[in-house]
Amino acid sequence: MVQNSHFSDSHLHLVEEGHGDRYSDLDSADILMACTARPDEWDVQSGMTDTRIIGSYGVHPWYSDEWNDDIRERLVSILEGNGKAHVGEIGLDYQRGTVKDQMKAFEDQLTIASNMGRIATVHMVGTEKEVLESVKLRGSGCPGIILHSYGSDSYLKPFSGLNCYFSISPRILSRSDVRVKRLMDAIPDERLLLETDSPHAGKVFTGMHDFASRLGDITGRDPEELLSIADSNLKGLIG
Ligand SMILES: [Zn+2]
Repeated sequence: MVQNSHFSDSHLHLVEEGHGDRYSDLDSADILMACTARPDEWDVQSGMTDTRIIGSYGVHPWYSDEWNDDIRERLVSILEGNGKAHVGEIGLDYQRGTVKDQMKAFEDQLTIASNMGRIATVHMVGTEKEVLESVKLRGSGCPGIILHSYGSDSYLKPFSGLNCYFSISPRILSRSDVRVKRLMDAIPDERLLLETDSPHAGKVFTGMHDFASRLGDITGRDPEELLSIADSNLKGLIG
């Protein structure tokens, strides 16, 4: 069981209530890549003073109806004012609303991230094909695209051929060990990230070290090594 090593969390929501409740080792995190889902969270996040926070600003597909010209201007001005700010959580979700209605908000925000050379963090549920197409067409200026809570074996290859990183969340543990191992084995080490997505980390979550230990058990790899690979990948990506 790993306990004290440092790590980086590539996706969580610090503005949401309860994010720290079961996150026993939050203090050991070096980097907290924090995302927002709606514009009314942006000021709260930018007011946070913890120096470990790398803030991403975006409109989540569930709230894509909140995307408009004023919000676009606000996003651009946040990014102009803070060279360390990124874009997220954006994306497409087949299970909630329609992809057609979400597309403009997603593509606009991805384009802004790309034009301004920022990382985009992408949520996708059943929309791998559409996201892949958009990333190809509009995401090439991003230093990296974080595919948050990644879970699709069949799209690993095409996404690996682009500037995409695979961020694994504790919710993956609801799958069978065989499926988790198959996915983890297929992810190139240099594209692996680990996230908690706290407070949406799933039932079994108690902390990042425990999550890494579980992944280590399933994959037969050293959990410390997994934490350290994901840590240096995220640090390399944010520069
Ligand atoms: Zn999230």
